[in-house]
Amino acid sequence: MTANLAAAKAALSHLDLEESGAGLKAKSRDFFWYSPVLKARLDEVCADFVVSPRSEAEVIEVLKVCYAYDVPVTTRGAGTGNYGQAMPLAGGCVMHLRHMAAVKDIQPGRVVVEPGCLLKDLDAACKEHSVQEIRMFSSTWATATIGGFIAGGSGGVGSCTWGSLRDLGNIIRLRVVTMEEEPRVLEFQGEELARVSHAYGTNGIITEIEMPLAPAYDWVDLFVATDDFMDAARFAEELANEDGILIKLATVFEAPIAKDYFQRVAPHVEEGTNLIGLMVAPHSMDGFLTFLGRRPHARLIYRSDDHDWPRGPGMVFEYGWNHTTLRALKVDPSITYLQVRYGFPQHLELIEQMRDALSPEVLQHLEVLKENGKVMFAGLSLVKFTSEERLDEIIRLHEEAGAMIFNPHRYTLEEGGRQTVDDRQLAFKREADPKGLLNPGKMIAWDDPDWAYDRMYAYPKLRAAE
Ligand code: FAD
Repeated sequence: MTANLAAAKAALSHLDLEESGAGLKAKSRDFFWYSPVLKARLDEVCADFVVSPRSEAEVIEVLKVCYAYDVPVTTRGAGTGNYGQAMPLAGGCVMHLRHMAAVKDIQPGRVVVEPGCLLKDLDAACKEHSVQEIRMFSSTWATATIGGFIAGGSGGVGSCTWGSLRDLGNIIRLRVVTMEEEPRVLEFQGEELARVSHAYGTNGIITEIEMPLAPAYDWVDLFVATDDFMDAARFAEELANEDGILIKLATVFEAPIAKDYFQRVAPHVEEGTNLIGLMVAPHSMDGFLTFLGRRPHARLIYRSDDHDWPRGPGMVFEYGWNHTTLRALKVDPSITYLQVRYGFPQHLELIEQMRDALSPEVLQHLEVLKENGKVMFAGLSLVKFTSEERLDEIIRLHEEAGAMIFNPHRYTLEEGGRQTVDDRQLAFKREADPKGLLNPGKMIAWDDPDWAYDRMYAYPKLRAAE
C-alpha cells in the first residue's frame, strides 16, 4: 500500500491546504519534547501536507480522498499533547481542525460544540450565555481544543470534584466520522463513548461534542505553605473531602519546587517550603478559612482577591498539572516527569514511600483526583533525568511498590495507558478504519497483536523528514 500523495493533494487543492514551508513541520509536532526519550525518536517526524477543513462535510471529503489514495491521516487540535499523539509518524496528511470551532448550542447543564474550539473560548461562551462552565479542563485551557482534550487528554482542573473524562457522565455525546471508502457519520453515547474517547484519533474523527456544564464562578486562587510535605498532602486530601466546600483544584508541590521553579512565587517562600495551589469557589471562602484556621501548620500566603504581591503569580492552575513540568523545564532542561496513580486507600502511604526512596531525584507533584467517589492523587512527579535506563528503573520501583505508572515516554496508546489492549477501541478501528490509515503507529494491538510489552515499541514505519 503506497500513498499517492500527489493525487490526494490535487483532489484537495480547493480546501485550505498547506504543502510546504515551516508550517508543515510546526503542525507535525506537539509537546513530545517534554520526554527526552521521545525527543530522541520523534524529532524528525513531518507530514507531507496539512489540510484544515471548515466543516464536517469537508472532513468527510478529506477522509474519502485519503482513503482512496492510501494516505495516512493524523488529526490535530492544537498540538499540546505530550506523547507525540498528534504527530504523523508515517507522514501523510495532518488534518488540522482549527476552523471547526463553533459553539452550536448551550442549554442548562449542557453544551454542543465543534472539536476545534479552544477550551477557554468554550468557557467564555458558556459563561456569557448563562453563567456556566465546563466541569474540567486541561491546564492548557488557553491553547488546547475540546476535541484534543477528549481524544488525547484525561482530566485536569476540576477533576478533584468531577473525576476524569472517562467517568460516566463527563462526556454526553460524540459525533464521529469513519475512514472508509464512503465515510459514515455515527453518534456515540453511553457505553459507546469509550470506543473513541482517549483513542488519539486512531479510529474515527470527532466532529461534534456534547459536554455537561456546571455553574461558573469567579474562582479564588490560593497558595498555602507548609514546612512538612506530608502535612501538605493531607491538607489537600482533607480539603477535597470537605463536602460543603467547593474546589476546582488542589495541587501539592514538594519543596523546593516553589522556590526553584516558580519565579513569581519564589520571593514569598523558602527553600524548604511545600506549596499547595487551590481554586476555591467564592461562596466557599468562609468555610475554607475556617478549615485553614483549624490547621496551624498551614499558612495562607496568597489569595487572588486580596493580596499585596507586587507581581501577581497569574492563574494558579497554570502551575498545576503538566504546567509544573513546563515551569521546571524552563529553569532546568534536564527535568522530565512521570505520571503516577496513587490509588485509594494506600495513596498517602505510597507517596511517602516513593518520596523516602527517591527524593530529591524525584520530586513529588500531586494532583487531587476523585475516582469512584474517593479522593486520591495523580502524581506528575518531576524527575531529574540522567539516562533511559535510570528512568526505567524509577518506573520499576514505583510499579513494584504498587503505584501504577502511565508512561509519558511512549507514543502508543497501550504503553501510555495500562499496557493492555482496549478491545473496544481495537474492535471499532477494525470497523471504522479498515486500511489502518488513522494516526498510524499509535495502537500496538493493530500493528502487532502479539506484542509482549517487554521493551519500548518501535513503529516500523516511523518516517523521518526527507
Ligand atoms: P492535540 O494535541 O492536537 O491532540 C491530542 C490527540 O487527540 C491526538 O492524538 C490527536 O490526533 C487527537 N485528536 C485531536 N482532535 C481530534 C478529533 N477531533 N477527533 C479525533 N482525534 C482528535 N492533558 C490533560 O488531560 N490534563 C492536563 O491538565 C494537561 N495539562 C497539560 C499541560 C501542559 C503544559 C501541556 C504541554 C500538556 C498538558 N496536557 C494535559 C496534554 C494536552 O494539553 C491536553 O490533553 C489537551 O487537551 C490536548 O488538546 P489539543 O487540542 O492540543 O490536542
